[in-house]
Amino acid sequence: MEKEFDFGIIGSGPAGYTAALSAASAGKKVVIFEKDLIGGVCLNRGCIPTKTMLHSAEIFEIVNNSLDLGICVDNCKVDFSKIVERRKAVVEKLRNGLERSFKNSGILTVSAEAKIIDKNTIEANGGIYTCNQVIAAVGSSPRVIKGMEYDHEKILSSDDILNIEKLPKSIVIVGSGAIGIEFSRILSAFNVEVTVVEIAENLLPLADIEVSKRVERIFKSKGIKFFTKTSIEKIDKSDSNVKIYLSNNEILEAECVLLAVGRVPNEVEKCDGVTYIGDVAGSVQLAHFASKQALQKVVQIPFDETLVPSVVYGNPEIAWIGKREQDLECGSYQKSMIPISALAKSQCDDSLDGMMKILVQNDKIVGAHIVSREASSLIQQLVIAMQTNVTVERLKAVCFAHPTYSEGIFDCLMRLK
Ligand SMILES: Cc1cc2nc3c(=O)[nH]c(=O)nc-3n(C[C@H](O)[C@H](O)[C@H](O)COP(=O)(O)OP(=O)(O)OC[C@H]3O[C@@H](n4cnc5c(N)ncnc54)[C@H](O)[C@@H]3O)c2cc1C
Repeated sequence: MEKEFDFGIIGSGPAGYTAALSAASAGKKVVIFEKDLIGGVCLNRGCIPTKTMLHSAEIFEIVNNSLDLGICVDNCKVDFSKIVERRKAVVEKLRNGLERSFKNSGILTVSAEAKIIDKNTIEANGGIYTCNQVIAAVGSSPRVIKGMEYDHEKILSSDDILNIEKLPKSIVIVGSGAIGIEFSRILSAFNVEVTVVEIAENLLPLADIEVSKRVERIFKSKGIKFFTKTSIEKIDKSDSNVKIYLSNNEILEAECVLLAVGRVPNEVEKCDGVTYIGDVAGSVQLAHFASKQALQKVVQIPFDETLVPSVVYGNPEIAWIGKREQDLECGSYQKSMIPISALAKSQCDDSLDGMMKILVQNDKIVGAHIVSREASSLIQQLVIAMQTNVTVERLKAVCFAHPTYSEGIFDCLMRLK
């Protein structure tokens, strides 16, 4: 078999598959190497399985609170095995689609661990592949805390929690970044007793402070317990329940503990002339960041790395872009904020929890923070506004449909002097 290629791509997550598909559609000859499942973490153990489960969680919450909406459902209960089955089916369907796209685009897939020999050579399965450009998109893995290594039964990573077939009665979730928050929401919706432990001052510490406080209020209203400014000192697994010793001297007990304490780039040979993209590059660990990086490197589509939206899914969604209020100098900016309950659409949907905040400097939006149903899509309007550098004055001329959550953006704009 001929083994000379324009692109040799290691890893088939969002970084790798976007690089492969865009190179192939530009007429390049491409080989992609994957040692595990096609689609990487995002498709198999990340974005997609979590969002599939969150959808079930949200439906369960809505149905349970539907009496006021005029819907009476008796005996609403969770069939977790069905949820797991559907999650697997969604992942498999998308994975098959991706495999078909590789095939239809003429991309050679090698199911094996690849090793970079030099900037033009990859070795896999005993074969040598010569490539004009080598791209390493080998991703990341859950961070391990020394002395609290994953045992996959009582001390779990995000990979492990996605493998459970039965819901625990109780869980302690360490870390309240996007992954910790999303699993808290999934599990608490299914009536698992959830306690979150966060070392920073507030939950979701990378968010704007008002968003973090809003999340804390939502957690309280949903009965999700949490500790902030608290770390874990020790995990004792000797009893049937795990004991988690906290820095504030409290001891928590739960069936298991999920460590959602970040991810570390996977190890890969470092070699001049090789391009490293996605989670392995070690900056922003998000699927859309990974795929934009791929497009930038392979087909030279410009990418402003400062304008990457963050989204945390669940009910309500949380999304932001640009600067946080705590990062701006006092008096140097204008702020406009509304509660989501001010919107007619939120009243229609009985989805009243949330807020929208826009931060402006020199008539341009520099940050936007949303807690609302549909926040994941709403934020995109603000990303486009920021990316195109449009002024607030011009945005005020845009016609927003009624009743929509988008009207909240318009309301915020109109409040700005
Ligand atoms: C629970 C969870 C939820 C998430 N939710 C979101 C979300 O909602 N939105 C979002 O944007 N991001 C989310 N993320 C993050 C997102 O999954 C990652 O940012 C994204 O997958 C990174 O893509 P990547 O292509 O860099 O690497 P990966 O997706 O990690 O893919 C790397 C691939 O390389 C393969 N590989 C590694 N070494 C080799 C080798 N030597 N040879 C061959 N193959 C190799 C691996 O097997 C893997 O398949 C989530 C992550 C987790 C864990």
